[in-house]
Amino acid sequence: MMQDNLFQKIIDHKIPADLVYEDDLCLAFRDINPQAPVHVLIIPRKVIRTHADITEEDRELLGHLHLVAARLADQLGIGDGYRLVLNCKERAGQTVPHLHLHLLGGRTFVWPPG
Ligand code: AMP
Repeated sequence: MMQDNLFQKIIDHKIPADLVYEDDLCLAFRDINPQAPVHVLIIPRKVIRTHADITEEDRELLGHLHLVAARLADQLGIGDGYRLVLNCKERAGQTVPHLHLHLLGGRTFVWPPG
């Protein structure tokens, strides 16, 4: 079971993170176990446990996360091609119960993702 929301601890500055961006709605920091030369996590400040928990109220926030992802891809030098991943629930590989986008780039990706 996903229990410990360690991303809340990063938001609260209780554990450190290699921040690349933050604003009043979200923050982005480098993944501690990168799966590509560039691997950044983009998380909302609002706690949404999984993608399945989003509501109409989150429409603008979710759009914002995508705009930040596109801007960061450009700034981090992966505008030539990147992958956005959102794992929903444990069966899909989600380990932290706080919705997040993985922004990956700097290498060629294959499909299917496995
Ligand atoms: P997911 O498996 O989709 O829930 O993604 C969680 C991600 O968080 C994984 O890619 C982990 O490597 C990453 N992660 C776990 N702890 C930290 C941390 N303290 N700082 C940055 N990334 C982390």
